[in-house]
Amino acid sequence: FRHITRHSIALLLRTRKYDYDLVVIGGGSGGLACSKEAAQLGQKVAVLDYVEPSAKGTKWGLGGTCVNVGCIPKKLMHQAALLGTAVKDARKYGCQIPCPTTNQNIRKQHWKAVQNHVRSLNWGHRVQLKDKKVKYLNLKGSLLDEHTVRGMTKSGKEVGCFFITKIPGAMEHGITSDDIFWLKEAPGKTLVVGASYVALECAGFLTGIGQDTKVMVRSIALRGFDQQMAGLVTDHMQAYGTRFAWGCVPQRVDKLPSGALQVTWADTRTGKEETDSFDSVLWAVGRAPEAKALGLDKVGVEVNRETGKIVVGADESTSVSNIYAFGDIGEGRPELTPTAVKAGRLLARRLAGQSTQLMDYDNVATTVFTPLEYSCVGLSEEEAVGRHGQDAIEVYHAFYKPLEFTVAERDASQCYIKVVCERGGEQRILGLHYTGPNAGEVMQGFSLALRCGATLSHLKETVGIHPTCAEELTKVSITKRSGLDATVTGC
Ligand code: NAP
Repeated sequence: FRHITRHSIALLLRTRKYDYDLVVIGGGSGGLACSKEAAQLGQKVAVLDYVEPSAKGTKWGLGGTCVNVGCIPKKLMHQAALLGTAVKDARKYGCQIPCPTTNQNIRKQHWKAVQNHVRSLNWGHRVQLKDKKVKYLNLKGSLLDEHTVRGMTKSGKEVGCFFITKIPGAMEHGITSDDIFWLKEAPGKTLVVGASYVALECAGFLTGIGQDTKVMVRSIALRGFDQQMAGLVTDHMQAYGTRFAWGCVPQRVDKLPSGALQVTWADTRTGKEETDSFDSVLWAVGRAPEAKALGLDKVGVEVNRETGKIVVGADESTSVSNIYAFGDIGEGRPELTPTAVKAGRLLARRLAGQSTQLMDYDNVATTVFTPLEYSCVGLSEEEAVGRHGQDAIEVYHAFYKPLEFTVAERDASQCYIKVVCERGGEQRILGLHYTGPNAGEVMQGFSLALRCGATLSHLKETVGIHPTCAEELTKVSITKRSGLDATVTGC
């Protein structure tokens, strides 16, 4: 059961002696960045973008997943949850503010405000395209041949297969992250199926805004991330109030006469079947590219049959010389807005003959916006061990307490820093990991250091900004190998 990612797909056609120099299919983050850059470099550019409604009928405007049903509304929901925690903290600082998390009217206002902001961004994107003289076509694009793109209007709409599942009732009664931000009100008691970025972020903000939330994890949380850090994130979520069903696999969803959704699942650890009822079931089980509708087979663009993604080279080229693909649709590419944006811009510059620079997909920092945020750059400890061997890496770590947690009497058990380095030579840093407040803000600067080849002594020679959480990264001195207590005491 996967929902289709449609709008971070950006497939680009380079044409010569045709109507356009560039035609970009997909007005997601990457597609928009590429088209605007190309237009600024003097190319004649068109962007086709069309939102096929979700199975629940949710539709949205220009800007792709990030703007409409991803990063932007997610961060605003996360912010609402953080404010709830801040209101609780405020009491310890002598400021008595009632916490309105359970007030449905306020929740409705919040949902509406987020939606209004997203609409303003949709409008902003249209204005930017117009200003930069990029032709925007609200059409569903597909390839007729390698130099011809067909745009279909609503009347030519195909019925998309948005759900790939055999779980009875999942499609009829479920929602995905395509829908959650466009509901008219908060979803109530919610089961979130899946345990990666989207699942944990949604479960986190839902818990934070007072919704009874359970996460169903079939294997591990945050696959691909450092698993010690993933454990801290989920431990904190459990302490925060999110319930977890570990090792559980959903089997069916039935709508009861009351309107409640009864979910039946198998607990793989006990071998038992269990049920519970929910107001909403949110499927966050991964996204699949909607490449079939692009007509790639007609022109011979190579696609990985297993993942459905387009096979790309280091320069975003495909197996057809004038067709390029970048963003989520590229095989093996990170599904992240900033990488799509940068890859799109660089491609536009190369196509315009202005540069030969390729996108460097290494050492891209990212943040998981769970109630306790987690950010990282570089290798996880597992990856570092896998590549270099246990004896060739050194891990420095610290359990620290953010100053703002002290007066607020917040538990800091999961606030942790890990610096993964080479053990020999200059101790080049391979990976940095941080759980705590403002994780994205903390890691962005350190990611620059990693790109510049930072070593442990560079980190330790850096003078901290006192008293901040980021400062703690510059102070690490305890190695895991030493077995010493890594709890930070004093300033
Ligand atoms: P994902 O990373 O592909 O994870 C899918 C999750 O669903 C996994 O936990 C998987 O479990 C589980 N799952 C899959 N099929 C299932 C089934 N039939 N039953 C139960 N569980 C099932 O997908 P995602 O969380 O949607 O993220 C997609 C991409 O979006 C990510 O790669 C990420 O780069 C991007 N993203 C980024 C941000 C950010 O930058 N903050 C936020 C959100 C998303 P297993 O591990 O057992 O397979």
